[in-house]
Amino acid sequence: MDINKKRLAIVGGPKSVEKIFPWPIYDETDVQAVASVVRSGQWGNPDCADEVARFEQEFAAYCDSKYAVTCVNGSVSLRLALIAAGLRPGDEVIVPPYTFIATASVVLEINCVPVFVDIDPRTYNLDPERIEAVITEKTRAIIPVHFAGLACDMAAILDIAKRYNLRVIEDAAHAHGAEYKGRKLGSIGDAGSFSFQSSKNLTSGEGGIVITNDDALYETMNSLRNVGRLPSGQWYDHFNPGCNYRITQLQAVLLSEQLKRLDEQTIIRNENGLYLDSLLADVDGITPLSRGAVAVRHCYHLYIVKYDKTKFGQLPKNEFIAMLLAEGVPCSAGYPHPLYKQPVFQQKNFMCYAIPESVDYTQVYCPEAEQACLHEAVWIFQQAMLGTRADMESFVRAIQKIQMAVSG
Ligand SMILES: *Cc1c(COP(=O)(O)O)cnc(C)c1O
Repeated sequence: MDINKKRLAIVGGPKSVEKIFPWPIYDETDVQAVASVVRSGQWGNPDCADEVARFEQEFAAYCDSKYAVTCVNGSVSLRLALIAAGLRPGDEVIVPPYTFIATASVVLEINCVPVFVDIDPRTYNLDPERIEAVITEKTRAIIPVHFAGLACDMAAILDIAKRYNLRVIEDAAHAHGAEYKGRKLGSIGDAGSFSFQSSKNLTSGEGGIVITNDDALYETMNSLRNVGRLPSGQWYDHFNPGCNYRITQLQAVLLSEQLKRLDEQTIIRNENGLYLDSLLADVDGITPLSRGAVAVRHCYHLYIVKYDKTKFGQLPKNEFIAMLLAEGVPCSAGYPHPLYKQPVFQQKNFMCYAIPESVDYTQVYCPEAEQACLHEAVWIFQQAMLGTRADMESFVRAIQKIQMAVSG
């Protein structure tokens, strides 16, 4: 083995990155906030939901949106928005194939048909230029996913939605605090859904929230997450087919404390992302994704680069990832396949859901999403983006060390 290969951490050499990047980040103020709710005995919602309502107002205000409805997770929040938006069984909903399963599975759960539209290879976001080709008389909604925390091309998406009378439900599960032309993501479409699952940029372990400016959407979502109750009704009056999707007061106060840190953290991640972009401009075979054509604040839930194995001695992506992990860079190869390749779609395991017979996901092919999954995408996790400039430099050194070893 040559000297450069021996130095790789994967074969016992020194790591390029010694630092550990913790997540979540908390201190005594978070502990005290939760402890005070514990001591109060007022853990639940809605019988004693002051803290939940307060956090909803804080988050809505932060996003400059009129309303916010919390719920158990970011899949349910997306589903509440789709139901409230008036989708009916058999309606078609446009989704990207390069996202977490929930974006598409919640569409199935309301007996609607996910229609996959490929991503733009420059940004890995839904490609607006491919949307019109799949619109039919059954198309009712688009779910743009602000993937990794980068804003979708909302001007183009809203323009299509307007012309075809489609609802736009933003999946902002990666995008807390990120912006598009100065507006918070999630606040631009009919509704915007966020996750508070433990890996997300704002977290309480589990949880979700959906924001909207639309009075009717808000009233329906508020009712659906609270067992179909209405504020005007009695405890055992149920007006809508909802469920108990409420969060606890413990989560609400934790989120409230975490929200105080979000802006500062987002600014740090955004600046580190720009710095990494500039450093990687000099690394052949590693191309950061584009930040799009308009002004954005990227919140880098993931910092994504495209890997070109021809510049790394034909080293397959998964082996590169294993080496990078061993060097101490918190990273992943991301999704192994686009969503339509999942057994649930390929084998039509739709159980009780009424998806039309004619739907056949074995015929779907989105080349850009396949390329991203199989060959290109390398994800660096958001907590690593909270490091210093020196940490960013250490990630680049790790990449260059591997490159030198494998192409030498
Ligand atoms: C995490 C995530 C969700 C779902 O959130 P949960 O809180 O895990 O239900 C939805 N969409 C995307 C893109 C996600 O990453």
